[in-house]
Amino acid sequence: MVKIPISLEFFPPKTPEGVAKLAAARAELYALEPEFCSVTYGAGGSTQNGTLAAVQAILGEGRSGAPHITCIGASRATVGGLLDTYRAAGITRLVALRGDLPSGAGSFGEFRYASELIEQIRQHSGSHFRIEVAAYPETHPQARSPEADLKAFAAKVAAGADAAITQMFFNADAYFRFVDEVRALGISVPIVPGIMPITNSSGLMRFADNCGCEIPRWMRLRLQSYGDDVKSIRAFGLDVMTALCERLISEGVPGLHFYTMNQAGPTVELCRRLEHRVA
Ligand SMILES: Cc1cc2nc3c(=O)[nH]c(=O)nc-3n(C[C@H](O)[C@H](O)[C@H](O)COP(=O)(O)OP(=O)(O)OC[C@H]3O[C@@H](n4cnc5c(N)ncnc54)[C@H](O)[C@@H]3O)c2cc1C
Repeated sequence: MVKIPISLEFFPPKTPEGVAKLAAARAELYALEPEFCSVTYGAGGSTQNGTLAAVQAILGEGRSGAPHITCIGASRATVGGLLDTYRAAGITRLVALRGDLPSGAGSFGEFRYASELIEQIRQHSGSHFRIEVAAYPETHPQARSPEADLKAFAAKVAAGADAAITQMFFNADAYFRFVDEVRALGISVPIVPGIMPITNSSGLMRFADNCGCEIPRWMRLRLQSYGDDVKSIRAFGLDVMTALCERLISEGVPGLHFYTMNQAGPTVELCRRLEHRVA
C-alpha cells in the first residue's frame, strides 16, 4: 500500500475564541502526523502578527510550522526584517507568494512577481529556508496564457523554490497535464496537490470562481440541488474528494496539502477514508 506525506494549511484567527478553536483543531489533526503545518498571510500585512503567533504555537507543539509570506505592496526592507524575525523564531520553511492586492488598495510595491520574492529570500537568507511556491494546474486567472503561466512557474523554481503546492482543483487530468508540462521543461521539484475538503456549496463556488478553479458542471448542479442541506453537501463532497485523492495517490503524487479552513472534522474524515494511504 502506498503511503504519502500530508501537510495542513490554516489561517490566522482574529479573535481569542478563534485561537482556542484552532488549537483544538490542530490537536485533533496532529493524529494525521502532518509533515508540516502552514499558516496563511494576508497580503498587505494585515494578519502578519497572527501568522507568526500561529506558527509559534505550532512550533511550541513540537511540529514543523511554515508561515506564508507575500510580497505584493511590500518593500525589500520589510521582507528582510520579516525573514530575520522568522529565522530568529526557529522557522526553517516558508510558503512564498505574490499575494493579491485587497480591492481598491494601493500599489504593487517593490516586487511584481513571486519569483522576485524568492530571489530576495535566497539573497537575504541563503539556503536557510525551504521554500514552497504556488502552482496552478488550471492556470492562474491573471496569466496572459497557460504557456506564460508555466514560464512564471519555471522562473520561481529557477529563483530557488524547492517545491510547489497547487491551487485547489477538482480535475485530476489538469493536474497531471501540468506536471507533465513542468517535467518537460526539465523541472523536477515536487508538485503537491492542494486539497479543499467540501463543506458547503455557495462559499466553495465563490472561492473557486475567484481563484480560477473549475467546478465541473455535474458537481455544480449536484451542489446547487442540495440547497441548504449541509449533510448531503458534506456526504457528496466527501465521496468526490475521496475519489479525487484516491486517483491522485494511485498515480503517484508526492503528497497532499489540505486546506483545512481551521476545521479538523472534514480533513480527518477524508484522511480516514484514505486510511493506509496517507502517513
Ligand atoms: C498554496 C497557496 C497558498 C496561498 N497562500 C496565500 C496567502 O497566504 N496569502 C495570500 O495573500 N495569498 C495566498 N495565495 C494566493 C496567491 O497569492 C494568489 O494566487 C496570487 O494571485 C498569485 O500568487 P503567486 O505567488 O502564484 O504569484 P506569481 O507566481 O507571481 O504569479 C502571479 C501572476 O503573474 C504572472 N507572472 C509571473 N511572473 C511573470 C512575469 N515575469 N511576466 C509576466 N507575468 C508573470 C503569472 O502567470 C500569474 O498570472 C495562495 C495560493 C496558493 C496556491
